[in-house]
Amino acid sequence: MKIRIVVLAALAAGISTCFCAAQNAAPAPAPTMLDRLNAMIGGGKSAWTPEQLAAMERLRDAAMKDPYALNQLRHLTDNIGPRLSGSPQAGQAVEYVAAQMRALGAEVTLEKAKVPHWVRGAETADVVAWPGQTPGTTQKVVLTALGGSVATPAEGLTAEVVVVDDWQQLHALPTGAVKGKILLFNHKFDKELAAQGGGLEAYGGSVVYRGAGPIAGGTVGAVAVLVRSVGGADYRLPHTGLTAYSDGVPKIPAAAVAAEDADLLKDLASQGPVKMHLTLTPQTLPDAESYNVIADWKGTEHPEQVVIVSGHLDSWDLGTGAIDDGAGVVVSMQVIHLLHDLGIHPKRTVRFVAWMSEEEGSEGAAQYMADHKDEAPNHIGAIESDLGADHPTGIYYAGKPALGQWLRPVAQVLEAIGAETLVNAPETGEDISGLTEKGVPSFAPIQDNRFYFNYHHTAADTFDKVDPKRLNENAAVMAVLAYALADSAETAPR
Ligand SMILES: [Zn+2]
Repeated sequence: MKIRIVVLAALAAGISTCFCAAQNAAPAPAPTMLDRLNAMIGGGKSAWTPEQLAAMERLRDAAMKDPYALNQLRHLTDNIGPRLSGSPQAGQAVEYVAAQMRALGAEVTLEKAKVPHWVRGAETADVVAWPGQTPGTTQKVVLTALGGSVATPAEGLTAEVVVVDDWQQLHALPTGAVKGKILLFNHKFDKELAAQGGGLEAYGGSVVYRGAGPIAGGTVGAVAVLVRSVGGADYRLPHTGLTAYSDGVPKIPAAAVAAEDADLLKDLASQGPVKMHLTLTPQTLPDAESYNVIADWKGTEHPEQVVIVSGHLDSWDLGTGAIDDGAGVVVSMQVIHLLHDLGIHPKRTVRFVAWMSEEEGSEGAAQYMADHKDEAPNHIGAIESDLGADHPTGIYYAGKPALGQWLRPVAQVLEAIGAETLVNAPETGEDISGLTEKGVPSFAPIQDNRFYFNYHHTAADTFDKVDPKRLNENAAVMAVLAYALADSAETAPR
């Protein structure tokens, strides 16, 4: 966007905007304004030949037309369904994706990983006493157990509810105020921030209560902890997600209540004592054996050098894991599919990875880092898509600032689909964060996240939420970027 403004300003000032090579031929020791403009738009020296840039355009255009990603997503979500870590569906998804990749001629490896096996049980709650209660009535509270939660007694528990908005309010309570009670963290997800494109920041501001709430509650003697759902959903949809316990602190049952129910509980508790009956019966079974699916499209010159394209195959169990993260998996599958269909064989290996158990602790990614611990130098780049499937405006990159300049020609190819922005980010994806830490240049599509957290981790994360055109735009970004990294003259700056 900024680049266009500069070029328009140059035009207005009467400066030529022809950036052809001939203009650069004359010896010019001091950089002219034109040189500087050239650098900004990726003119001049490029890591790719015109033929390679043409291949990127073919990949982009094919991705925009091809229904492969959408069809794969339909199968993963509608046919296989939710893919909770350790579940039969997650196992089925591993087999399915591996078979699809084998059918394209990729070299497929299933890499074993031990993953948590948590199973959701009954989850009900009612307010059973409150100020102004009509005798003989109760009020239903909509909630869902947090991932990894322990259970209440089978018949449930009844206790008074204490509502706090944040840590400060909890600390301000008198000692013993929460003992034997149900503690609700009513920290609001910042919907306005999300509406302006700050979905990740809004999520970050609230998800700490979901993660650490049970430890804080257990520390002050609560018998259960509730958190206001971390997300922007209306229509009384609770959001699940992973929570945590700490050794030495009592483990207490934990659930997320719908935003509307958090408001209700806060209102009633401000008027007088409120009692809730809560039943949660999840089970934590022994860790299960599962797999990362790895499919290599072998490089022709440097097969040992790899570029990862990836998403996570596991999902939460309330919906069918369409935006989180079936979409990331299928746009990555599409990269291999397009390389196959267009007969493109880059110098380096393009490695598709469907990570297992990102949602429950990233055990698959940790296993990959352990299994490939000395191979970081041969990882030329890593891409993960895990922020839905809405319109991508460009690419996040983590690593050397020089990566931005280096990627300019790639961004120009993606400008045709509105994905030309290049943004330096501290991290790009949970599953590839270990590689980022080891200095591997890493990348992610910059997806529009204004609506993502309305559905994320809810029962409404279903196939219909994915727009086919936008899914294809994401596949185009993944395919063009993966090819660019795998076939460039020099490897990406690091
Ligand atoms: Zn995810």
